[in-house]
This record gives sequence, C-alpha cells and structure tokens, in this order.
Amino acid sequence: MDTAEFRKYGKEMVDIIADYYENVNNMPPKSTVKPGYLYKLMPREIPEDPEPFEDIKRDIETKIMPGMTHWQSGNFFGWFPSTNSFPSMLGDMCTNMFDIVGFNWTCSPAATELETVVMDWLGKLIGLNKRFLSFSEDGTEAAGGGVILGSASEAQIVAMTAARERMVAHLISQGICAEEAERMKSRFVVYGSDQTHFATQKDARIVGCKMHAVVSDENFRLTKEALEAAIEEDKNAGLVPFFVCGTFGTTNTTAIDDLPGIADVAALENMWFHVDAAYAGAALACPEFWPLAVGIEHADSFSFSPHKWMLTSLNMTTMWVANSMHLSNSLGMSCEYFLRVKGDRAFVRDYCDWQLSLGRRFRALKLWFVLRMHGASGIQKHIRTHVSQAKWLEDQLLADGRFEMMAPTLFGLVVFRIKPQILVDSSMAPAYGKENCAKINAINNELINRIQDDNRVFLVGTNIKGHDVIRVAVGSTLGSHRNIELLVQVLKQVTTEIIGN
Ligand SMILES: *Cc1c(COP(=O)(O)O)cnc(C)c1O
Repeated sequence: MDTAEFRKYGKEMVDIIADYYENVNNMPPKSTVKPGYLYKLMPREIPEDPEPFEDIKRDIETKIMPGMTHWQSGNFFGWFPSTNSFPSMLGDMCTNMFDIVGFNWTCSPAATELETVVMDWLGKLIGLNKRFLSFSEDGTEAAGGGVILGSASEAQIVAMTAARERMVAHLISQGICAEEAERMKSRFVVYGSDQTHFATQKDARIVGCKMHAVVSDENFRLTKEALEAAIEEDKNAGLVPFFVCGTFGTTNTTAIDDLPGIADVAALENMWFHVDAAYAGAALACPEFWPLAVGIEHADSFSFSPHKWMLTSLNMTTMWVANSMHLSNSLGMSCEYFLRVKGDRAFVRDYCDWQLSLGRRFRALKLWFVLRMHGASGIQKHIRTHVSQAKWLEDQLLADGRFEMMAPTLFGLVVFRIKPQILVDSSMAPAYGKENCAKINAINNELINRIQDDNRVFLVGTNIKGHDVIRVAVGSTLGSHRNIELLVQVLKQVTTEIIGN
C-alpha cells in the first residue's frame, strides 16, 4: 500500500468508524453467535497474494460484526464501561504514526517527557497528594511520579514486585542474612478482601506469593480490625506480610475499603500499601468525590484506568508511586546497547524501569489528546452525567417497589435485586425464610437471563455474600437519558413477566 492508497483507505476507515458510532445504539448490544462461528467462516490459510481493502471491509461487516458485543452502545450496562472518545482515537492514530519503541529517554525524549507531564496533570486533576507527582511546584524533581501501564493487573504486579524487593531489603536491615531473606520470599503474603478484584489473587500467584482474602464487613469493606487479625494469624504461622491492596470502588459494589485504617496497619507492619481504583478513580476528577478518597495520600502506589471511565480507549492504566526508586530497584536492568543518559538526569525517567516489559508505545500522546480536547470541565461533565443517571435509575427502581438496593450507589454502578418480600406476597412461596434464599436467587438470575436474551439492553449479575444480584454500570459515552429509560422499561416489563405486578 502506498501513501496515495493510504490516504484513500484511511479516510474510508474514519467513515466506517463514524458510521458505526452513529448506528451502534440501534444494534442489539450482545453478540448472539455460537462458539466456533468464525472458524467455520474463515479460510484455513493466509492469502498467497495481497487482498484488496474492499474485501476486508466486506468481511468486517458480514463476519466480524455479528461476533461483536457492542461495549460502546448506550444500551450496554455490563461489567464496567469502556469509554472511548474521538480525541482518544486521534491520539492513538498519532501514536501509530511514530511507532517508537520508547524504553528509555534517548529512544524519543518527547515520549518520556510528555508522559511525565501528563501524569502530573492527571494526578493533580484527581487530587492526588503531591508526594505522587514527579515535580514540585517550583520545578524541582521529587521522589514520586506516574507511569502509564497496560492494565490494573499489570500495575499491581509492578507494585508487588517493588514491594517484595523493599521487604527483602527491610529484612536484611533487620539483621537477617541476604540468602535467608531471599528464601523467605516464599512465605510473603499479600492482603486484600473477599471483594478485592481477583486480579490481585492472580498477580500474587505470578509474583510467587500467597494471598490472604480477608472477610469484608457488612458494607463489603476491608476493615482495619479484620486486616490486623489476619496479619496476626499469619505471622504466628511464620508468614511474612508485605503488601496490602485497598480498593477504592470494588468491582462488585464500588465499596471503598477503610483506607486510613489500612494505611496505619501497613505503616506499622512495613507493608507496601497499594490502592486499586481501576474504575472509580476517574470520579476523582470531580472534587466532590475527594472526601471519599481519604487515606490514599498514605499509599505507596495508586492506580486507576482511564480506559474504564475516562474517555480513553484501552490500554490505559495509570499508576503513581510515592518513591520511584523502589520501581527501578526491582525492575531496572541495563546493558551495553541501552544508551542511557549519563550525567545530569534531571527530567529523565526511563519508564522501562517502571514496567514489566522493555519496549513501550508512545502512550502519553493518547492521554494528552484526551486531557486537552475534553479539558477538566469536559471530563467532569462526563462523570457527573453518569452519576446522576445512576441515581435516577436507583430512584426509579425504588419507586417501583419490587426492587431493593444491595449497596449504596456512589458512582455509576447500581446494584440491586428483586426483593425477597415478593415471595411472601406472591403465590410463589407462602412464607419467606432462609430456605427461600435459593428461590430468590433463582428469580433474580431468571431476570438477568431473560434480559440478556431479550437483548435490547445488556447487563450482568454477580454474587455478593451469597446473594445473586443485578449490576447495572451506567457509563457509555454514547448513552443518554433515553437509554436509561429503555433500561427501566425492560427491567419492569421482564420483572412483571416473571413475578407479576
Ligand atoms: C477492572 C478492575 C480490575 C482489572 O483491571 P484490568 O485492567 O483488566 O487488569 C482490577 N481492579 C478493579 C477494582 C477493577 O474494577
């Protein structure tokens, strides 16, 4: 393909994208293909000769489109949102243009320095304590800083790896010999709650340590007391606590752990304190949410994913640390062909020392486009619109009378179910008791399944402390009040089909 053809097809591709965005709200949100559908439609080998763009374009329409679940649809309320926006796409195109392998400053100074700048911008926007920023107000370098990573899971592996080496150094400073400290790694334990994202469990496995999932309280929070008890128990069993993950906005219910309490325990036990705010961190762009974030200022690392709720496409997870030395101590490597800056290294971040892999895209461009083209006010409006839509949805469900909330609606996530009293009042069960728990779970699952089959809107369920519940994540960039109205209409109608009025 030469540049003349690229100009032609590039513009056509932009039209395909714009058409998709204009029509996606009219498509059923969930793909209904059966497993293996695509294998049957595809040739067994790559084409021997180049194929025209037109053929691929047609196949996107006929073969790929049916297998797509439309995360950008205003009628998609599943899991957490993936909020894309046009400025993000423009930024991605620009990243593709340069296609650098930006492992260190020398690879492309602009790539490194823009990342440092936008991560400070974003950190200030979400009200992070200044110990997480790369530069203080007078322009002098600080110990902290932010980095762009691929996922919340990756951010946590980076944090755990840094934490593990910090703990080894701490043990050595306590008089334990280096070999013994190294051997003790197999007894290192990570803490979270039963509501912590399973990524933490997986990350602990990758890093090679155990995880203790502490039982959360009745508000689905990890508390100081429960954490202390778990640590006590483990220390008595000869284990070594070294890392705790506090969550700001859990995946099941957007609960917020006792972050100040966890910070106290972490400080006392010399543990690394990581805050996972993958979804809800975006809300901190609005200062009215800052009171909920108390305790984050004491963390060793904090991460959230603009690719979830801040108008940026995947992969865009941002993480800040209070002391970047722990990252380079654990992840920094070097070799002859590396060409690191020698001498004055002020303003220089070699971000390969802050991540798992060596090579990296010019990731900051996309974030820079998003932050500039939406501005603080645009991002705040985006968040506030979804939060008020979620509140409106909650009001509608409560007014209906057949539903109960299972967790407070703090952000854009509404968690509810058909209430057990329905069984008492209906012919379905003469009396409601513990034995009817399975029955009310079954009714709620029926509601989820029927809504998924109906496919005018898409949502998923979850289980919290034995209860099957419905999760509605409001947050599509293309969603408007009309989409929430449709959701309410579908919910009411399907509920009536199952249990009557
Ligand atoms: C979505 C989510 C994750 C996992 O994020 P990935 O980027 O897919 O690794 C982790 N923690 C929380 C709280 C989440 O909401």
